[in-house]
Amino acid sequence: MAEQNNGWTRRDFLTTGGAVVGAGTLLGWPLHSLAFRPDIVNPLAHYPARDWEKIYRDQYRYDSMFDWVCSPNDTHACRVLAYVRNGILTRMGTQYNYQNYSDLYGNKASPNWNPRQCAKGYTFHRIVYGPYRLKHPIVRKGWKEWADDGFPELTPENKSKYKFDSRGSDVHLKIDWASVLKYIAKGYVAIAKRYSGEEGAKRLRAQGYPEEMIAETGGAGTRTFKMRGGMGLLG
Ligand code: SF4
Repeated sequence: MAEQNNGWTRRDFLTTGGAVVGAGTLLGWPLHSLAFRPDIVNPLAHYPARDWEKIYRDQYRYDSMFDWVCSPNDTHACRVLAYVRNGILTRMGTQYNYQNYSDLYGNKASPNWNPRQCAKGYTFHRIVYGPYRLKHPIVRKGWKEWADDGFPELTPENKSKYKFDSRGSDVHLKIDWASVLKYIAKGYVAIAKRYSGEEGAKRLRAQGYPEEMIAETGGAGTRTFKMRGGMGLLG
C-alpha cells in the first residue's frame, strides 16, 4: 500500500520531483555548479564573503550590564540581568547563580531554580520602551474623592458613590509624585486606624476574616495592608 503524507503518495512526490528536475534542466539551470570541487578541501575557508559572520556576532555585543529584580503582581521577585548598548536596554539574561546566595536565615535554593525568570521577565525591556508604559502616577477618580472625604466607611451606598463596585467605569487622573505619596500615606494611616485594636478586629470579623488571620495581626491595623498595583496606580 502506498505511503500517505498530507494526502501525497510516494508516487506523487517522485513524479512531481522528477518533473521539476527535468524542467530545470530544460531551462538551463546550472545544476553542474552543485558538483563537488575536488580542489577545495574546506569549503568554509574558501567562502568569498564572510562579513555577515561579524554582523551576526556583533548583534550580541553590549557596553554594560546590571542586575534588577522583576516584581510585578506575581510576587516571584526574580533576579534578571539587563544588557545595555548605546544607552538602550537591548536584552535580558540570567546569571545561573540562585544556589550561591541565601535569605536572612541561611536558606539556599538549589541550582534547579536556574534560570528562574519567565518570558515576561526576559522581555521586560519591551514594556520599558513600549507605547503604553505608565510614566507618571495616576489615581482613580472615585478613590481620590473617597480619600478627600476622609475615607468614610464603605457602606453599599458609599461603594457605589465612590465606584468601588464599578471601578471599570471610572476614570484615572494624572497626579504628581509628591501628591501621590501623600495620598498613599493618608490611606495607610486610615487603614491602620480602622483595623487596629478590638474595634478593628470586630470590623475584620464582620467582613468575614477567619479568627486565625485576625489573631495574626496582633491588634495592629498596619498588618492588614494590601499593596496594590505598582507604578503609582491608586484605586
Ligand atoms: S520574571 Fe516572570 S516569574 Fe519572575 S517575577 Fe518577573 S514576571 Fe514573575
